Amino acid sequence: TRLGNNFQFLDVEREEPNKKSFESRTEDFVEIYDPFTKGQAAEQSDRCLECGNPYCEWKCPVHNFIPNWLKLLAEGNLFEAAELSHQTNTLPEVCGRVCPQDRLCEGACTLNDGFGAVTIGNSEKYITDTALAMGWRPDLSGVIQTGKRVAIIGAGPAGLGCADVLTRNGVKAVVYDRYPEIGGLLTFGIPQFKLEKSVMERRRVVFEEMGIEFVLNTEIGVDIDIDDLMADYDAVFLGMGTYTAMQGGFPGEDIPGVYKALDYLIGNVNQKMGYPQENDAYIDLKEKTVVVLGGGDTAMDCVRTAVRQQADRVYCVYRRDEENMPGSRKEVQNAKEEGIQFLFNRQPVEVVEYFGRVLGVKVVTTELGEPDEGGRRRPQPVEGSEQVIEADAIIMAFGFQPSPADWFGNLDITLNDWQGVVAPEQQVYKFQTTNPKIFAGGDMVRGSDLVVTAIWEGRQAADGILDYLGV
Ligand code: FAD
Ligand code: SF4
Repeated sequence: TRLGNNFQFLDVEREEPNKKSFESRTEDFVEIYDPFTKGQAAEQSDRCLECGNPYCEWKCPVHNFIPNWLKLLAEGNLFEAAELSHQTNTLPEVCGRVCPQDRLCEGACTLNDGFGAVTIGNSEKYITDTALAMGWRPDLSGVIQTGKRVAIIGAGPAGLGCADVLTRNGVKAVVYDRYPEIGGLLTFGIPQFKLEKSVMERRRVVFEEMGIEFVLNTEIGVDIDIDDLMADYDAVFLGMGTYTAMQGGFPGEDIPGVYKALDYLIGNVNQKMGYPQENDAYIDLKEKTVVVLGGGDTAMDCVRTAVRQQADRVYCVYRRDEENMPGSRKEVQNAKEEGIQFLFNRQPVEVVEYFGRVLGVKVVTTELGEPDEGGRRRPQPVEGSEQVIEADAIIMAFGFQPSPADWFGNLDITLNDWQGVVAPEQQVYKFQTTNPKIFAGGDMVRGSDLVVTAIWEGRQAADGILDYLGV
């Protein structure tokens, strides 16, 4: 490395870590990127210009001290880099893997203007992965216990972000989740080729060593009454996600052979990890022709899971063009490399059946019209353009809507007009719901979004709880 060379970015090009070959990455459920080598990490992090007012930090939803930890990494101060990285982010090794960096930190990097952005995500992943492997643990030596206790419902990124900040401020966090492992969608949603399951297993041990208690396989409202938590704890945080799958609203969605994206992905994780599930919950698409409807991260995860299950042919059908796809560009590129065929500007209108089984999906071609409220151009069907794409299985990946629990009403938790929990950031106690003792954050408040935004809301809600508790 040429440490201290201000023009390192001219001498050293942006480099991604090695990507596994097509054969080795599609034959099993493993992460497709190798870690940076020590030399790559030092050299790549040293490309940072240390901008005075770094745009990357502004654009990063948790406002990581990016140039500072890149510098520590370049200098070889790995433990200091890890400590600093954890001051703003609860799961840096996860965000380094799954954030859409091209739209966030790396998209805002000054060097993205023709020189190639600093590989921030991979450096963030390297710092924590390597520091943890070398024995580093978060330093909680200065924490003074307050005696306060908070129940957290949901061990997804929002709940974990909240638990992390509370623990670092001497408040006991007890996290309840209905699933057998922590992580929420990180474990039961995002597949192993983006995030191997051992990452969250290792993280659980780190959290437990910090003093966070997990009560797994426990659904609040079924196994434990919410009133018991309200009585036993000083405050409650809800980080329960959004789990109502959006429907396409066309005929044939309930024909056998049509599946919901998350059912498909969770069934696959449970099968691979040996977690208990119903007999017919695992959907095996080996040697099938598969059509995935939708163009976001969930759709990409489904098509790439189907390839790894050795499906014969896999199509992604999306109603807008590639330019207007909502997911990470990197993952679309990876899907293309893995042989997925993209059919853009096609809108499904009907599932076609044959003797009670799926035969295919009828689509119309679309043209993009005026922008909608979200600024994306609205697809308009072209008359007379119907065609049927033959398929053995159809997976619907149209996104998610909130799934409020039936007990919210009894506790005066207010929902907005799209059923999200009302818990604004801009108020005296950040992310407090209309029940003063209950706070909420993540997908259930902002609608389905990103891991890093859920972490941010969980962490901010913890600040709100600390203020509310007066500690
Ligand atoms: P969740 O992660 O959904 O966690 C909620 C937790 O609450 C769950 O574990 C659930 O079991 C638990 N829970 C709910 N109700 C109860 C109850 N009554 N009792 C006990 N426990 C309960 N984001 C990215 O940034 N990058 C990606 O690449 C990416 N890929 C994605 C791929 C898929 C397939 C999906 C579905 C989402 C993806 N996302 C991605 C989005 C991201 O995963 C979510 O935005 C994020 O996980 C939301 O965090 P959360 O903590 O709000 O909720
Ligand atoms: Fe970039 Fe996400 Fe890390 Fe922020 S948390 S620096 S956006 S990878």
